[in-house]
Amino acid sequence: MNEQLIQEVVAEVVARLAQVQPGLRLKTDGATAPSPAKAAASPPSPAPPRAAAAGRRRGVFTDANEACEAASAAFRQLQEKGLEGRRKIVAIVKELCEANAAEWARMELEETKIGRLDHKIEKLQVIKLVPGVEWLRPDGLSGDHGITLEEYTPFGVIGAVTPMTHSIPTIAGNIVNMVAAGNAAVFNPHPKAARCAVLAAQTFNEAIYREVGIDNIACVIENPTLESFQAICAHEAVRLLCVTGGPGVVKAAMQTGKRAICAGPGNPPVLVDDTANLSRAARDIIRGAAYDNNLLCVGEKEVFALDNVADKLMAEMERHGAVRLTPGQLDALTKAAFTFKEGQDGGAEPVVNKEFIGKDATVLAQAAGVSVPNGTELLFAETEANHPFVFEEQMMPFIPIVRVRDVEEGIREALKAERGYRHTSIIHSNNVEHMTAMGRALDTALFIKNGPCMAGLGLGGEGYMSYSIATPTGEGVTNPKTFTRVRRCVMVDNLRIY
Ligand code: NAD
Repeated sequence: MNEQLIQEVVAEVVARLAQVQPGLRLKTDGATAPSPAKAAASPPSPAPPRAAAAGRRRGVFTDANEACEAASAAFRQLQEKGLEGRRKIVAIVKELCEANAAEWARMELEETKIGRLDHKIEKLQVIKLVPGVEWLRPDGLSGDHGITLEEYTPFGVIGAVTPMTHSIPTIAGNIVNMVAAGNAAVFNPHPKAARCAVLAAQTFNEAIYREVGIDNIACVIENPTLESFQAICAHEAVRLLCVTGGPGVVKAAMQTGKRAICAGPGNPPVLVDDTANLSRAARDIIRGAAYDNNLLCVGEKEVFALDNVADKLMAEMERHGAVRLTPGQLDALTKAAFTFKEGQDGGAEPVVNKEFIGKDATVLAQAAGVSVPNGTELLFAETEANHPFVFEEQMMPFIPIVRVRDVEEGIREALKAERGYRHTSIIHSNNVEHMTAMGRALDTALFIKNGPCMAGLGLGGEGYMSYSIATPTGEGVTNPKTFTRVRRCVMVDNLRIY
């Protein structure tokens, strides 16, 4: 037996003892373990087979059916552990995200090659803002016919799909929400972001097993495919789906016949009117659109500015460090960032070139034929309203600025650009009538006034955090209640005590 295997066996024995004698927590070297986060902060050993030899999988599966069965067993164990068990798991996941933020962010960036390290770190650190068990408060009714309690209860196993744009953050945020509500989960991650998903899931499951005594509460498919997605959706233990991604996965989930919570694509427009604080608007547009190189589904993707303030807004954007492209440079970037295929009406339909998604502004600048200072966060250019950069969800640190005559035209164009996703829209204005008109017309799940997009997710605005914003299915920013069934408990004619 080598040393690592001995440690695994000792850990197993200690975990079992801890179940018999709650509170016992030992590291395998015999010292008292400081906290679940610290204990698991170093990268987990990349050797699931040893854990499997000890009868544990740490949530990692190649077979989707096995994963669903393991999650189903974990769900039943979680029921036994009560609310306290859920609270502990939520705390473990949040602590591990904080403790491993730098390492996991680096791992995810290396694997996906999209986005920015500083923001990837922050995206893990803010998992602590995802609400937990405290979010679930039953509703009570009391009247002449007794009392009734409506409880928010779990579904069981939830099948989840996560995007490449934020793989570990979405898995972690989903686990917090889903387990707080009493569920277990099986994740089919994006194939290009599965390695980091597996490593994070192993770390979560290891610590959860050690602290709570449940293995496989959050399972991940190691080699995700469309077939594993279909197997998860078809498994009888899976009572609910939650998919986070673009139009393809939303359509696929809705076709399964199971209830699906769909966090779909967005193309958030920004309207800037002539009552706005232009310096603040420019700063906020840059902060939002440059965040993780514009990978956020809520991220600012196109700006409509009133004609009488457009020049000033663009000057402010330059003052805040964004770089303006000339029409020639914009043409060069457009040719690199899109390919064109024949559309249904015979016209040319733009398709985003994946090579440029989530790349740094300096890479985009190179394609545009311009050299920009290192550290440049965002490029912009003035375009027409029908430009591909306006209509396509391009997820690049470039933002088109479109001039509009008045607020009515701005709202009309913003509505077209949003494409009916009903995801996110933003206005910079001090005129409440303009805000109201845009809010009503756009009808989006998030409508942010005078702030960057992240303010809509509790980062600088009031509210809580989630990486799954259910837009086409209408649940909005998901939280533990989203993953519950409402069950009613009725006492007839009694227990109303006055
Ligand atoms: P993507 O659509 O390429 O992939 C998302 C996930 O769906 C991946 O796991 C992928 O493997 C899977 N998938 C794709 N097509 C599928 C199909 N036909 N059947 C089964 N699974 C399928 O998206 P991405 O590049 O990973 O992420 C970016 C997209 O996700 C953007 O459109 C963005 O707006 C959206 N998104 C939305 C939210 C939200 O909360 N609404 C959050 C993050 C990302």
